Amino acid sequence: MNNTFGINIIPDNDQERIAALKRYKILDTPSEESFDNIAKLGTEIFDVPISLVSLVDEENVFFKANAGMGTATKSSRGVSLCALGILEADITVFEDALETPCLLANPLVAGDFGLKFYAGAPLVTHDGFKIGTICIVDKKPRSFTKKDELVLKRLAKITMDAIELRLSAINEVEQQKIINERLAESEANAKLLSENLAAEVKEQALARKRIEAAEQRMESMVMNSNIGMSIFKGRDLVIEVANEPMYAIWGRTPQQALNKPLLEVFPELQGQAFPEMLDNIFVSGKPWENKEIPVELKTETGTKNFFINVKYVPLFDENENVELVVATVINITEIVQTRKLLEETNEELAVTMEEIQASNEELIRAYDDLKIKTEQLGDSESRFRSMIDQSPVAMMVTRGEDHVVDMINPIMLQILGNKQDILGQPLFDTFEELRSQGFKEIIYNVYATGKPFYSFDNPVTLLIDGKEQLRYFDLAYTPIREEGEINSVLQVAIEVTDQIANLEKLKNAEEMLRLAIEAANVGTWHIDLQTWHCQTSAGLKRLYGCDTNDEMVYPDNSDQIPAEHRQRVLDAVDETIQTGKPYNVEYPVMGIRDGQLRWLKASGKINHNIRNTSSYFSGVAIDITEQKQDELRKNDFIAMVSHELKTPLTSLKGYMQVLIAKNKANTDNFTFTALEKGSMQITKMTKMIDGFLNLSQMEAGKIYLRKSDFLISDLVKEIVDDFKLVTVTHLIVISSESTARVEADRDKIGQVITNFLSNAIKYSTTGTVIAVYCEATEHGIKISVKDEGNGISKEDCKRLFERFYRVANPSRDSIAGFGIGLYICAEIIERHDGRIWVESEKGIGSIFNFSLPTSIVL
Ligand code: ADP
Repeated sequence: MNNTFGINIIPDNDQERIAALKRYKILDTPSEESFDNIAKLGTEIFDVPISLVSLVDEENVFFKANAGMGTATKSSRGVSLCALGILEADITVFEDALETPCLLANPLVAGDFGLKFYAGAPLVTHDGFKIGTICIVDKKPRSFTKKDELVLKRLAKITMDAIELRLSAINEVEQQKIINERLAESEANAKLLSENLAAEVKEQALARKRIEAAEQRMESMVMNSNIGMSIFKGRDLVIEVANEPMYAIWGRTPQQALNKPLLEVFPELQGQAFPEMLDNIFVSGKPWENKEIPVELKTETGTKNFFINVKYVPLFDENENVELVVATVINITEIVQTRKLLEETNEELAVTMEEIQASNEELIRAYDDLKIKTEQLGDSESRFRSMIDQSPVAMMVTRGEDHVVDMINPIMLQILGNKQDILGQPLFDTFEELRSQGFKEIIYNVYATGKPFYSFDNPVTLLIDGKEQLRYFDLAYTPIREEGEINSVLQVAIEVTDQIANLEKLKNAEEMLRLAIEAANVGTWHIDLQTWHCQTSAGLKRLYGCDTNDEMVYPDNSDQIPAEHRQRVLDAVDETIQTGKPYNVEYPVMGIRDGQLRWLKASGKINHNIRNTSSYFSGVAIDITEQKQDELRKNDFIAMVSHELKTPLTSLKGYMQVLIAKNKANTDNFTFTALEKGSMQITKMTKMIDGFLNLSQMEAGKIYLRKSDFLISDLVKEIVDDFKLVTVTHLIVISSESTARVEADRDKIGQVITNFLSNAIKYSTTGTVIAVYCEATEHGIKISVKDEGNGISKEDCKRLFERFYRVANPSRDSIAGFGIGLYICAEIIERHDGRIWVESEKGIGSIFNFSLPTSIVL
């Protein structure tokens, strides 16, 4: 709002004032004559050009009546002077606007309109709100007297009254409108009600008609039905309607019954079921029905007994109470009587039928029994036949004294040469050859006495294709009884020709073997490992130098083995028994009786019986004394040759050393080198000859130990120092020393260490380290020589200590040796009760060890 007055034009209670104004529902309404007249009166009374009835709203001033302002209906509250008119309780007068400072900026005053005079009296509501003014305006200044003021105030009062009046008129009209509307509504309702009423009346009339029609229909139905029908009314059961069939059942006339209570007509019904049943229907309202009810009625001709089917149906009045009961009654006396008659006849019939059925059932049972028995009989017969037919052994049944063939299976037929037409023929007519071999008597005997006959491995000559064939059979002849009487014989034959032939072959083979063993001077033995019972052949007894009849007992007879070999043999036997490894040993035996020394080579193994329940150790032994003697002779020869060679070789070596010493100063390089190489070859040759000498001595059992007590690490040091002097290719170190003392042959143990060291040098590459260890263990002293050579495979490791064993390796063919060094080492260590072994890994190196029992450890 644009306030042109420069002063506050909004009173404190403006909101309530506007609410009071709105109460009058006058804002923005069209002009009304009464107000127009008041405005006009204003102009006329005060002789001014303009008079307005204005109402001051929130933003605007609304002119309800306008005299002299053309068509204007409103003005802005900030411009209209009436905005000021409502601020004062009394009248507001500006006699000359130009002299009033707050109006100078007012467009009405300053503008073309040229307002100079204004007087306005407020329109005050009954509750004191100034909602507008009645004002007069002039374009020239005027003076306004107290009287004028009074008149304008009265005008204002009239105007306010007119506004109040107008409001009550409006309210009245609205009230009237609501009343009218309600009136219209109740009129419409009344109309609807009367319409419904009419429809209902119509319906009722229709229903009545329908009921009447139904009643009529029912009555005519009752009357025309050929089933007895009647209608009872009320709990007195007054007979209202009854038809002809009903009267016929009752045995009464309409005159006697109609419109009378039931019990009056039929006093005899008192105590019977009907009256109570009917009365119940009035209470429950449910229909009731029953069949075949016996009734007793008294008629003029006497008491009447009959059966009826009855149905009672209730009919209700408008209050849903039972008013009538329609009774439907059919006389079924005749039907019941006929049925009873029929039933009686039927009963008789049923008894007869039952009797017939019982005897039939018995018949069926007997027949079934018979059938089962016959089937069983047939079954067992056919089972027997099929058993014989499918039997895997030859079978035949002969009947009677003539032994007529009754059944024969394909196997038996085949054995007998596939002679057809044999069935039904006496057996011995067809097979004359069987009779001649005495079978007829045997079978007859079975037939006559009932005693079965069994025979095994029986030779039978059969004539097959005209040729005689000798075959062997296990035979069984059994009598067959029928109802206690023997009437046939079952013959079973199992051919054992092949087994007999095999047995023969086996016997021959055994004999051959026995002869071969005898001839080859081979001894055999067989020891039961459960009982240790020992069976020996004559050959073995011979080898042990005793008589054929002498008993040989294991392990007692091992006493005959010289002490130095005994343990080895017993250990080998033990190992075979424990591990199942084959047994292969060579050992000497001193003859028990002849005292002769024989060398034996024995091979054996563990065997088990078929069921694996027992096992035995058996084998053969042969005499290799001759061979051994050859070897000993050879050894002697080698020993002799080696020995003979040693002396000249020793002096040759001496000469060579003198020559080398003498040629040290010689400038002739070739001579010196040649002499050195020659000397080296002599050393090699000496070693070889020493080896052979050792071997031959050992084989001959001629290694004698000269034991002494010494400090083992001294010996190791000595040998290593010697090696260091002559070895430039390898670095030899003693990695550990021990203070253990041993009781041993110093030279022989030294020989073992030397062998280990020279092998380590021989079989590892130049520049590698060879370490010697000397350690005390809980079992004694252990000496090890470790190299960084190529190592030895596991397979080779096992056999390394065997005589003449060398690892096959083309690249080492150039390395001198015979494979006897380690063999001799093993022999030496074993004789010292020590242990020798090798640990090796291919590509890494080997460690050769031996251990000796220590005497004292300091
Ligand atoms: P030889 O006179 O052939 O060396 P030995 O009985 O001393 O006979 O050795 C048997 C075989 O064992 C040798 O031929 C060699 O193949 C193998 N052998 C022995 N020592 C070593 C070792 N330190 N490294 C690898 N192989 C070895």
